Amino acid sequence: MATDNVHIGEIEKFGSHAHRWWDPDGELKTLHAVNPLRMQFIQAHTPLAGRKAVDVGCGGGILTEALAKAGADALGIDLSEDLLGTAEEHCRESGLTVAYRQISAEALADSQPGEFDVVTCMEMLEHVPDPASVVAACTRLAKPGGTVFFSTLNRSLKAYLLAIVGAEYLLRMIPRGTHDFASFIRPSELSRWARDGGLDLAGMEGIGYNPLTGQFHLTSDIGVNYLAAFRKPAAAG
Ligand code: SAH
Repeated sequence: MATDNVHIGEIEKFGSHAHRWWDPDGELKTLHAVNPLRMQFIQAHTPLAGRKAVDVGCGGGILTEALAKAGADALGIDLSEDLLGTAEEHCRESGLTVAYRQISAEALADSQPGEFDVVTCMEMLEHVPDPASVVAACTRLAKPGGTVFFSTLNRSLKAYLLAIVGAEYLLRMIPRGTHDFASFIRPSELSRWARDGGLDLAGMEGIGYNPLTGQFHLTSDIGVNYLAAFRKPAAAG
């Protein structure tokens, strides 16, 4: 797989949902539900039409297709062959053009550094052994002046209660065992890794959930799920 930075069990776990990835009521239904909010956040920070975008840990392509629909020249990368198969098939059915590749962020950054206007890496960092290495790779993938987006879960008591106890056990919104609290990432940690690679923070927003209406919304509360946008400074001169 040309990277050590992977939990094979995680690739298998997500791959086992390949056939139901696009079912809006399936195991991945929360990704479908939050995708319009992710796109709203992304488009508040960068134009997409005609821009080169790479979606790291793309899974079955929910965000990747949305990027392409908004006019981006989109590439999705993941290590799950099954999910890439699902993504390709769905993309054909949607009549969209998206390129998919089985390659790690680190390996792509070695071969195509500085090539992408937009780099997205959503709900993936909390599933790898060394998230800082993925952040560094995403940073290298971005062009000077490009924008890098992450979303993950905060390592807070509130996130433990809502994202694990609430979402996995009480409301059964996502399959049990989806998340491991120890792998959650504090906004301060994500910001530090991004800063270490030379990125500037452009914005952070939380994703809130109202259990009464079943609706998600963007919120200033970054205590549970949050989105972050970083800018790679334009090259001097
Ligand atoms: N980003 C997508 C899917 C999130 S699910 C979305 O938000 O819609 C997490 C994804 O990360 C899965 O597709 C899984 O296969 C992928 N993944 C986990 N570890 C990875 C790694 N080391 N390199 C690339 N992808 C990885």
